[in-house]
Amino acid sequence: MYKFAVFGNPVQHSLSPTIHNLFARQCDLSVQYDAIECTLSAFAITVRDFFLCGGHGANVTLPFKEHAFALANTVSSAARLAGAANTLCRSDDRTLFAENTDGLGLIRDLTTTQGLNLTHCRILLLGAGGAARGVLGPLMQATTHPVTLVNRTLAKAKDVAAHFSRVGKVITRSYAELADDHYDVIINATSASLSSTLPALPDTLSCRNALVYDMMYSKKPTIFMQWAKNQGASVVCDGLGMLLEQAAESFYLWTQHRPEVLAVRRQLLHPSRPL
Ligand code: NDP
Repeated sequence: MYKFAVFGNPVQHSLSPTIHNLFARQCDLSVQYDAIECTLSAFAITVRDFFLCGGHGANVTLPFKEHAFALANTVSSAARLAGAANTLCRSDDRTLFAENTDGLGLIRDLTTTQGLNLTHCRILLLGAGGAARGVLGPLMQATTHPVTLVNRTLAKAKDVAAHFSRVGKVITRSYAELADDHYDVIINATSASLSSTLPALPDTLSCRNALVYDMMYSKKPTIFMQWAKNQGASVVCDGLGMLLEQAAESFYLWTQHRPEVLAVRRQLLHPSRPL
């Protein structure tokens, strides 16, 4: 039996156990997937214990992604670029390997599920925390335009832009400076929706014909998704697709089985239907 877990704080709300159990059923694998909540000071020892006691793979969520990166013995290029990891596993020599599948998950959801060609898209990314760092590199690589990054604490956005300058140019702006701008894709990687608040977006920021994406997922449209609809967005999505895609990539890393994400998405949205 495979032993997996997600580490976070808080973590009880996480959909990851449900998603990975559905992946396991679909791939006919026996899996135990736990949600483990711990404090920051106990994170390293709790993760080490999990792997010492036979854990095969772990997901890491808020607020531990940077710590997971620091804890690993080896890291992927995506994790190195992000400076954060959402996936851990044991290498053959029993050392800890860190990966970041958030960027790939978002790009897959945008291009495969939403059918978007990002090549000529002007992209606005809100937030400069772990999630933004995870997706910024892949977004920069997907479009020919510089990505615009805005954050409540502007200095943090500037630090992130400097870190990513080896990949390309990132334009940093304050929220007020977005007035009258127009983007093809707007991605909310802030945690504002978690507390049902909106970032300080100017009323004159147009979303006309844009795809607007909130990385947060919930049963009802988030406050940010409602704002985007009112601003004229043509497509508005939550982060469920990204969550599924990044989870599928972790599952593949751990088991070498690639689940069929669309079937699991349908199952999550309509649990009474067969998988
Ligand atoms: P962090 O705590 O690392 O970063 C939070 C970010 O949100 C910071 O940039 C912070 O700005 C900003 N922020 C918080 N509150 C506000 C506010 N009221 N107005 C404007 N900005 C605000 O969190 P993560 O980056 O790890 O996660 C961000 C979101 O992404 C969460 O909702 C998380 O659930 C979601 N997520 C979804 C995934 C998916 O697969 N769908 C994967 C990963 C994350 P400042 O620096 O000024 O404090």
